[in-house]
Amino acid sequence: MLTIIANASVLDHQGNLEKKHILLQDGVIKSLVDAQVKLSDIQDGASDIIDAEGKLITPGFIDMHVHLREPGFEHKETIESGSRSAAKGGFTTIACMPNTRPVTDHPDVIKLILEKANQAGIVKVLPYAAITKNELGRELTDFAALKEAGAIGFTDDGVGVQNAQMMKDAMKIAAGLQMPVIAHCEDDSLVVGACVAEGEFAKKHGLKGIPNESEAIHVGRDILLAEATGVHYHVCHVSTEQSVRLIRQAKSIGIHVTAEVCPHHLVLSEEDIPGLDANWKMNPPLRSKRDVEACIEGLLDGTLDIIVTDHAPHSAEEKAKGMELAPFGIVGFETAFPLLYTKFVETGLWDLSFLVQRMTADPAKVFGLNSGLLEAGRPADLTMIDLDAEKSVDPEQFLSKGHNTPFAGWNLKGWPVKTWVDGKLVWSE
Ligand SMILES: [Zn+2]
Repeated sequence: MLTIIANASVLDHQGNLEKKHILLQDGVIKSLVDAQVKLSDIQDGASDIIDAEGKLITPGFIDMHVHLREPGFEHKETIESGSRSAAKGGFTTIACMPNTRPVTDHPDVIKLILEKANQAGIVKVLPYAAITKNELGRELTDFAALKEAGAIGFTDDGVGVQNAQMMKDAMKIAAGLQMPVIAHCEDDSLVVGACVAEGEFAKKHGLKGIPNESEAIHVGRDILLAEATGVHYHVCHVSTEQSVRLIRQAKSIGIHVTAEVCPHHLVLSEEDIPGLDANWKMNPPLRSKRDVEACIEGLLDGTLDIIVTDHAPHSAEEKAKGMELAPFGIVGFETAFPLLYTKFVETGLWDLSFLVQRMTADPAKVFGLNSGLLEAGRPADLTMIDLDAEKSVDPEQFLSKGHNTPFAGWNLKGWPVKTWVDGKLVWSE
């Protein structure tokens, strides 16, 4: 079956826009043809022709850090609702974290997730497995069996691995299996009972703060362990100046470390938090303007490799418990691209191709995926974006079960309008 996406604007290797017809066949990109070529000359046998005049087509976005909540917390999100939300946001591949119930610490849970994702048939879901059983930090999981079942890496995301020897053992085994270790960096002894960053906001509201060191201490420790074990070490949701500095130095001396950053840590600081509204509560928390600047600089100079959403849906009831008691996390799929496009590309700070690469080719490269590029032979995972479309964020319109976002009412430009996975249209506005 041949599908043609006609007259699409695409980014070339230099980051310039050019006009192409994109031919998709059997789930794969067959070719990109100059739009000067008449459709009548290439449409023979095409069962579907979609006019993309005036629209940008990019490789489908890849989000390597998401929480789908299933199994165990289906009232927050399911693999199906999360997949729909991802597709609406232009994502075609998402990697889900293991802090479900049961925790993804056994091959059966990996198999269940893959089966549910397959049943939903919307986006590609890549499961991470837990480093330790039940994410309790006491006993390692069976890495080889989890890899065999389909896990793409190991992480105890949601919590940090507190014991250095445990982390070192995990890295040794992962290195032997040629698998990455992905770390949520947080030293529990420095954060007990805290809900926002240590800083002005915490002071003003009499709240206990999460200090920058709680993250950076783990980053520093793990970099040394990665150097000792040779593992591919990937740092989750970097949010502090100190972490950026440590990762930059580690990369400069050739340690195999990669890192991710979330849209909210690039766009918001603690100064933006309007009050004690838990839709502004996430882990890591919104930090100082200086940290935000350091994260932006880190992304620009390649210290931070990729953008991830850390999509973390919760129910309205849970988030209504207030800043101190509500769970950490905000949803991210359906605002990520327009948010970053509006804040950084529309304002002339970043090239469009820079943003697109950090959400497509770069995550594919870091995690060795076959997607993320718009070229013949690659999977036909594509996103169509209307860069001129402008609308305000309305959480009631989200396909995610979670409506917990700090961006409600923000006026944003650059909305995804269609998404294809393996050549199949999985979402259309
Ligand atoms: Zn985390």
